[in-house]
Amino acid sequence: MKDLRLGRFTVSRIEELLGPGFAPEYLFPDWNPAVIEEHRDWMVPAFLDMKAGRFISSIHSWVLRTAHHTIVIDTCAGNHKERPDFPRFHRLDTPYLDRLRAAGVNPEDVDYVLCTHLHVDHAGWNTRLVDGKWAPTFPKAQYIFSRAEHDSIRTAAESPGVSRSIYEDSVVPVMEAGQGLLIDGAHALEDGLRIEPAPGHTRGSVALWAESGADRGVFIGDVMHQPIQVYRPEWNSCFCELPVEARATRRRILETCAEHNTLVMPTHFAPPHVGRIRSRGAMFSIAFGN
Ligand SMILES: [Zn+2]
Repeated sequence: MKDLRLGRFTVSRIEELLGPGFAPEYLFPDWNPAVIEEHRDWMVPAFLDMKAGRFISSIHSWVLRTAHHTIVIDTCAGNHKERPDFPRFHRLDTPYLDRLRAAGVNPEDVDYVLCTHLHVDHAGWNTRLVDGKWAPTFPKAQYIFSRAEHDSIRTAAESPGVSRSIYEDSVVPVMEAGQGLLIDGAHALEDGLRIEPAPGHTRGSVALWAESGADRGVFIGDVMHQPIQVYRPEWNSCFCELPVEARATRRRILETCAEHNTLVMPTHFAPPHVGRIRSRGAMFSIAFGN
């Protein structure tokens, strides 16, 4: 995928993994296979592998470059992390950093890292193994977490499980290095870049809204996992923590994107990875590509 232009901003996509992910009936408790017939023309095989019975999903970071800053949005699953409960992410060894450099970004160049939330596939490259210890991958960056998200994973980490692993290997080393920045509510990064709460998938989820001249885009994290949620905005994933808020946030973001022709950049959509939302009455559709 070539870099995208959003007015004066440049956007690159750094892929970690692409391929079959969750089974639809697992990812979406409300799944109804009748939607396949309704949407087969765009959904199969690009987004749904019928033979495997699995959605196709991408795990990627977005890199947003402005005249002033280089910003990494979501940091995938990371290398060498112990994730026995998530086989797709367990002890990975991918060329993610080579791909980042190939896009023209050295880890030392990164000014901000934004985790839209602190799930296993959004915080992994916050750190990497250096001499057997977890160290921040981006040595000069400020890592931005919403305070609500940080506090909720810190609480969850009191019990054994994946949250404890993420907190200990991908959050604590950043905070101990003095590179953490906890934000409350909305937060302006620079002119035209604004982080806003997007609660529901997790309590502290945020989205990053970009605006340059007439061009607008939004990095939504996991407000949607799959494009079928554009057509079924009431469908939460099985990982959405707050069902009512997740639905309300998804609908609100879809409405805003339709109203302003905002480019939607989620973390897990398969190629072409991005799209623009159209609305008719209370229904939405997506035009893929930028
Ligand atoms: Zn995710």
